[in-house]
Amino acid sequence: MRLLLAEDDPALSDQIRQALVQEGRVVDVVKDGEEAAFLGSTEPYDMIILDLGLPKRDGLSILREWRAQKNGVPVLILTARDGWSQRVDGLDAGADDYITKPFHMAELLARVRALLRRRMGQQSPLFEAGTFSFDTRMGRATVEGIAVDLTAQEAAVLTYLVNNSGRLVSRTELSEHIYAYDADRDSNTIAVFIARLRKKLGAQVIQTIRGRGYKIDPA
Ligand code: CA
Repeated sequence: MRLLLAEDDPALSDQIRQALVQEGRVVDVVKDGEEAAFLGSTEPYDMIILDLGLPKRDGLSILREWRAQKNGVPVLILTARDGWSQRVDGLDAGADDYITKPFHMAELLARVRALLRRRMGQQSPLFEAGTFSFDTRMGRATVEGIAVDLTAQEAAVLTYLVNNSGRLVSRTELSEHIYAYDADRDSNTIAVFIARLRKKLGAQVIQTIRGRGYKIDPA
């Protein structure tokens, strides 16, 4: 899952980014409102974490602009401790959730997981199909109860396919959700990740629809 993080405090931004990357997320980081507004309206993020107090443009006006563009991406806003009216304005402008600074990283991560789950319409974080199971919270896969070792990129591919299970996902769509903005995106690499996943999980878990993409069906 690919996220945009808009936060101008470099130390906080680094902490959040590292915590998200450890959970297997791909994160694009911006430090001002203009970049946030641009990337948020042009890139297909699975979620956006938006500090309301950003230089160049304030978060609230950016959020209103996205919603006016019918951009329904889940947005978690970061607000100041005493900013109750900011939180109200943020929720009214279309934020899905908020967290007040300072916060515990574990709480932020839990809110991110909850929003991503809600976006995917998924009640349970545990996906099962036959002998394959995948915990989307941890990016952990098992086959017949035995843990499968995955690289970060394999886990990212699998997370996206599982979160979109039952639906055909094209290589382009997949690459847009597993690579950061500045990454070198090569759709041939996707084929390599899929081939490796097949070896590790068994050939039947991921279906290839020739020339169109990939699909994982729930059991
Ligand atoms: Ca700020």
